[in-house]
Amino acid sequence: MNIVLLGAPGAGKGTQAQKLVEEFGFAHISTGDLLRAAVKNATPLGVEAKGYMDKGALVPDELVIGLVKERLAEPDAKKGFILDGFPRNLDQARALDAALPELGVKIDAALLVDVEPEVIVNRLSNRRVCRNCGYTGTSADAVCPRCGGEMYQRDDDKPETIKNRLDVYAKATEPLLGYYEDEGLLVKVDGDRDPDAVYAEVKERLGL
Ligand code: AMP
Repeated sequence: MNIVLLGAPGAGKGTQAQKLVEEFGFAHISTGDLLRAAVKNATPLGVEAKGYMDKGALVPDELVIGLVKERLAEPDAKKGFILDGFPRNLDQARALDAALPELGVKIDAALLVDVEPEVIVNRLSNRRVCRNCGYTGTSADAVCPRCGGEMYQRDDDKPETIKNRLDVYAKATEPLLGYYEDEGLLVKVDGDRDPDAVYAEVKERLGL
């Protein structure tokens, strides 16, 4: 099964993706993670992407689309994949649809993890991520509960950037809901609940 995961930053897409990966072995393709790795390794892509990411703006489409196409061509994507954080706008969605036939795959569902903006601001300002294993926790986690690693706050989870990211979501990404609804692929779950309750509904709605 191939899934596009939709939802505002901080809606819990990464958490749901993680659970699906652990239980079903899908390839987790997060453009945010791929871009952060490129920034950390100071690759040419990372150097170019960093300025956009620090502001909470979208990285230019041609860079991200190239990155996703390469990643989808890797063998592990054949066992089913979850696209997390991509597409982020209509041009990216169209580019993805155009690339799928040559890769010999199709999207089975566009899963929206739906959370109100007020809840999001709180969640993002409290979010902390493990530097070692990528676990997502909160400011209450002194160290990573999974591996004991150091927890840090993403630069773009600081208050001045959060507003920008939510504006970008409302303007650029929300139109994708109509796009995938028209394709008959949209599946919406209420993300403002305990992650396990959200996950139970995700599985039921996806027929997993
Ligand atoms: P995320 O981890 O998905 O919240 O992404 C973090 C940042 O990476 C975003 O604020 C953007 O700057 C950049 N980014 C991630 N995915 C995309 C994408 N599909 N298109 C453009 N920029 C992206």
